[in-house]
Amino acid sequence: MRLPIIAGNWKMNTTVEQAIELVQEIRGRLDEIEGVEKILCPPFISLIAIGELMADSSIKLGAQNLYFEEKGAYTGEISPLMLAGLCEYVILGHSERRQYFGETDEMVNRKVKVALKAGLRPILCVGERLEENEAGKTEEVVTRQVKGALVGIDSLQGLVIAYEPVWAIGTGKAATGEQADTTIGLIRHIVSQLYSQQFAQDLRIQYGGSVTGANIAEFVSQPEIDGALVGGASLKAAEFLSIVEQTANAKRE
Ligand code: PEP
Repeated sequence: MRLPIIAGNWKMNTTVEQAIELVQEIRGRLDEIEGVEKILCPPFISLIAIGELMADSSIKLGAQNLYFEEKGAYTGEISPLMLAGLCEYVILGHSERRQYFGETDEMVNRKVKVALKAGLRPILCVGERLEENEAGKTEEVVTRQVKGALVGIDSLQGLVIAYEPVWAIGTGKAATGEQADTTIGLIRHIVSQLYSQQFAQDLRIQYGGSVTGANIAEFVSQPEIDGALVGGASLKAAEFLSIVEQTANAKRE
């Protein structure tokens, strides 16, 4: 049995004050929900304050990115060593990083390596763009991204993968549960070929892309989908709580 996992990606939203308010709003109920791993990924500058607020709770913290060097003259960047100890997870290879900041599979691979070395758990994002989907290239793109991100890595202890079709992110146009389940099954198959059947069976793979309280049940009722990476809806307290609660209920059945 894989422990379901819901992560909220707040992206570049919330000041420190707003982040604290949001956590204060959801902390009590979120902490009580059992049977789901719950992760909040606020902007870097709120990690410390939120980490303090969530100490002694079952809620975990994640960062949204890191740089692939440990230290040095890289103005404005945040290294894995700076994050280790502040948070447990780190989102890597998000499509917005690939699209707006030119991240390549090779850069994502370097990031996954340094994150693992620092003891952080990567949430590795993969997913095809709309034109790739329409051209029937989903399998090809996702295979390239998964293999590219994992080149030269022997031990993936702690890794989570998020399948996020780019056309579904922030668009309100989610994939269907069946579509997502098929592609996630493919990702599991790729990982089983690269590593082992057992490792692939234990690996948690999330769906991401316009997940809401109204559609989460469709995803988490699928056998291959182990939870969700939630963007916009994770900024709304009631909606995020509903997503986590429905995941707990669906996976308990
Ligand atoms: C995301 O940012 O990873 C995401 C899936 O966003 P949204 O839920 O807003 O589509």
